[in-house]
Amino acid sequence: MDELREQIELLQGSANLATSIDDVQKTIELLTAARAKIETEPHKAPITLATLQSPVKASLEVAQKDLKPAYFGLNKYGKALDKKFKDKPLPTAENDALSSHPHLINRAIAMHLLREGQFSVASTFIDEANRNPPHPEPTPGTPNPYLNDSWEKDLAKDALDSKKLQQHFGAMYHILHELRQQRNLRPAIEWARERSDVLEARGSNLEFELCRLQFVCLFVGQDENGHMTESAEGPFRAWAYARSEFGPFQIRYAKEVQQLMGSMAYWQNIVDSPYRQYFYNESAWEEVALSFTREFCSLLGLSADSPLYIATTAGAIALPTLLKLQNIMKEKRTEWTTQNELPVEIPLPPSYHFHSIFVCPVSKEQATDTNPPMMMPCGHVIAKESLDRLSKGARFKCPYCPNESHPRDARTVFL
Ligand SMILES: [Zn+2]
Repeated sequence: MDELREQIELLQGSANLATSIDDVQKTIELLTAARAKIETEPHKAPITLATLQSPVKASLEVAQKDLKPAYFGLNKYGKALDKKFKDKPLPTAENDALSSHPHLINRAIAMHLLREGQFSVASTFIDEANRNPPHPEPTPGTPNPYLNDSWEKDLAKDALDSKKLQQHFGAMYHILHELRQQRNLRPAIEWARERSDVLEARGSNLEFELCRLQFVCLFVGQDENGHMTESAEGPFRAWAYARSEFGPFQIRYAKEVQQLMGSMAYWQNIVDSPYRQYFYNESAWEEVALSFTREFCSLLGLSADSPLYIATTAGAIALPTLLKLQNIMKEKRTEWTTQNELPVEIPLPPSYHFHSIFVCPVSKEQATDTNPPMMMPCGHVIAKESLDRLSKGARFKCPYCPNESHPRDARTVFL
């Protein structure tokens, strides 16, 4: 891979097309000037054309010469690619489970483009998908794809018609742009504040994280629009900000608020203080941007990362193993018969391990950090609040089996 990266860097550095574009532009200018001259003085056309010849020829030669490194680099890159990926054919489409669900595939692509903020590409794609609706093909797993077709079409329609989704993601990208490029927290804070209750119910720290960063920015001398001010005023502005905005955070984030206020004592040498980590955190902006994206998507009922991206990446990681398996199967003349299960384990990175949510079977509430799932010695799991309610601190009978246990024997389950 290093060799490929090297080649790309070489290409980006040396094979710059900008000079060739300039050269071609000069030739075009020569030609248009000549045309204008011939229009105004038609009788001089032969002379104009004659004098045009050598400058145009020279200019084209320069363009050719400038293009040489690009050709050369591309050639070398092609060779490096061939060398790297030799003898690795892509798997054949024998197990193409996707061709029986084309509407769902289109939906996934459209959703991906929308959530990546590629609105114009998404709208062209959606237009074309609606104009030429795809036809499902039977596959071993789905021999009658038309049975599901109307349901899949309806589901896809939601995403494909979605002006609303586009508006949502438009708003998300506006806020992200303000955060990342303008270092402006205000739109994100406003967004979080309007949804304060929902976010808190989800156990989200987003609003506090944003306000804490605002405090830090003010402290080091930025105003609320991200412009630098007289830095000595910073701590005073931050203090005023904390007084007016931190009220609602006092209970849930008492410790964090105290730490921020404690930093006031070190305002002259924060670098050497124990509070340094809050004030010199290079990744703070990216962290709040990611945290914001995650919350925004989850309030829309979507995951923070595009499912298409995740599926494609996981697929690319799995490909070498599957190719190997295919070869072994061919050699041994066996077949892969399980349809909904992979015949081998595919090791994926930890970020690709997804946890399920836990809903208490007694209270029907989703578990949270403060109300986590608890497993009793019999192996049954209920939420902590249900456990407290049922046991009242003494031995009690499991609601799902005859076993009795004491609440102190129950163990927290981490999902
Ligand atoms: Zn039980």
